[in-house]
Amino acid sequence: MSAPKVKYTKIFIDNNWVDARSGKTFDTYNPHDGSVIAKVAEGDKADIDLAVAAAKRAFHRNSEWRLMDAAERCKVINKFGDLLLRDAEYLAQLESYNNGMVLNFARHFIAMNVDHIRYIASLADKIQGDTIPARGDLFTYTLKQPIGVCGLILPWNGPIVMFTWKVCAALAAGCTVVVKPAEQTPLTALALAALLAEAGVPPGVVNVVPGFGPGAGSSLTHHPDVAKISFTGSVEVGKLIQQAAGASNLKRVTLELGGKSPLVIMDDADLNKAVPYAAQAIFSHQGQICIAASRLFVHSKIYDEFVKKAVEYAKTIKIGNPCEPTTQHGPQVDTEMMTKILGYIEKGKKEGAKLLAGGKRVGNTGCYIEPTVFADVTDDMTIAKEEIFGPVQSILKFDTLEEVIDRANNTNYGLAAGIFTNNVENVLQFSKHVEAGTVWVNTYMEFGPQAPFGGFKESGIGRENGINGVEAYLEVKTVAINMSKKL
Ligand code: NAP
Ligand code: MG
Repeated sequence: MSAPKVKYTKIFIDNNWVDARSGKTFDTYNPHDGSVIAKVAEGDKADIDLAVAAAKRAFHRNSEWRLMDAAERCKVINKFGDLLLRDAEYLAQLESYNNGMVLNFARHFIAMNVDHIRYIASLADKIQGDTIPARGDLFTYTLKQPIGVCGLILPWNGPIVMFTWKVCAALAAGCTVVVKPAEQTPLTALALAALLAEAGVPPGVVNVVPGFGPGAGSSLTHHPDVAKISFTGSVEVGKLIQQAAGASNLKRVTLELGGKSPLVIMDDADLNKAVPYAAQAIFSHQGQICIAASRLFVHSKIYDEFVKKAVEYAKTIKIGNPCEPTTQHGPQVDTEMMTKILGYIEKGKKEGAKLLAGGKRVGNTGCYIEPTVFADVTDDMTIAKEEIFGPVQSILKFDTLEEVIDRANNTNYGLAAGIFTNNVENVLQFSKHVEAGTVWVNTYMEFGPQAPFGGFKESGIGRENGINGVEAYLEVKTVAINMSKKL
């Protein structure tokens, strides 16, 4: 594959491409070989101020956007879906080039995204309130109204998916937005901004300011005219965002902050299914997925057999340039993440886990790490407690469902969980008691745009997707009208 052409590297405000006020740029890289792909405008407070002002103008009650019929918003979002489909191959290549996402995975994500857009678009003209019986002659109803200017702060691990989920939900609700993509992966967010303008989104409704967390990101979270932040990323930054909201204007905050998700394999599970699912649940996208099944609990009766098969599976995964169509396993996003993950692998070895596959960097260029399998992992080990965000499968042993539910819940995270079993009682008990926003049974990582997604505990606040995902961009207003004939 030849390198995809980079068409957009500037800041996008009011449907125009502009340089940073400071004139600064930063390099963006290809994680396959560490080469510089492009210089991108580095937005900072001054640029965020301009973008928020544009979004505020676009949110004025007499603006084109606010006066647009909801059914028309639905058409605009759907048109964006058509354009995403038209440019799907180019966007998949750009995602792979800038992020290291395996090309086939990027293609699959984009196809899923188009379905997602169709579903969210269909909600735009179904936002409706209630009429409420109140005190006899007090005619009471609710209006659901867009919150206002929203700041959307994106992670690097799924740049197109995260942009689409957040922007489309905000647009369906009628909000306007300023997007801050992750520093590692600004390119597809800029390409998508161009598609939104082509789809007919009026100027100022969607603005994109690439830059760094402490500059552009922090300015957005402290801005007095931003009514809500939706963020996906680390717990550490999620907490800073809540503090910024508290220190400024109590803006609404929704957070999706990753996890240490348990996947439980009971002794009656079909191993021909459970082994590949468990592997894909941790190795897909090189482990850089918030819902990765990074604690794999296997029943003691089948433990040895499972571990043997898991190791065999990991060794079959084809590592290579993510832009090649046959590659299954590409590089980590950058050197910093690669170094961090290799550090976790060293800790795993030192703390007594048994390394049975992988464990090393691949070659000397690019950010590649072998799919790695550790057995005999115990709950107190660092690799069983912290989010690694890399291709490291940690296999733990358990004896009873009661025990494993307690151990699965013994974490500050609560994003996802899974169980493989053919026993309905196991399914009902586990799905009821495990502390997680999503529970998968005899599958893992399967999504539909209709289902709410988010975390318990420190994995986040609020939900994305489904009807709840659009409601997260709405305020409820109660109107009470005195119908009494008496004075
Ligand atoms: P991160 O720092 O939380 O980055 C997420 C986004 O927040 C980026 O756009 C980032 O900008 C921005 N940001 C950073 N500091 C900010 C601040 N003070 N105010 C406002 N925005 C700020 O995550 P990371 O450094 O990319 O990755 C670190 C760890 O986070 C990973 O190892 C992984 O464990 C976790 N993570 C989780 C998810 C998830 O899906 N939940 C996704 C990515 C990472 P910059 O790009 O400039 O940092
Ligand atoms: Mg960061």
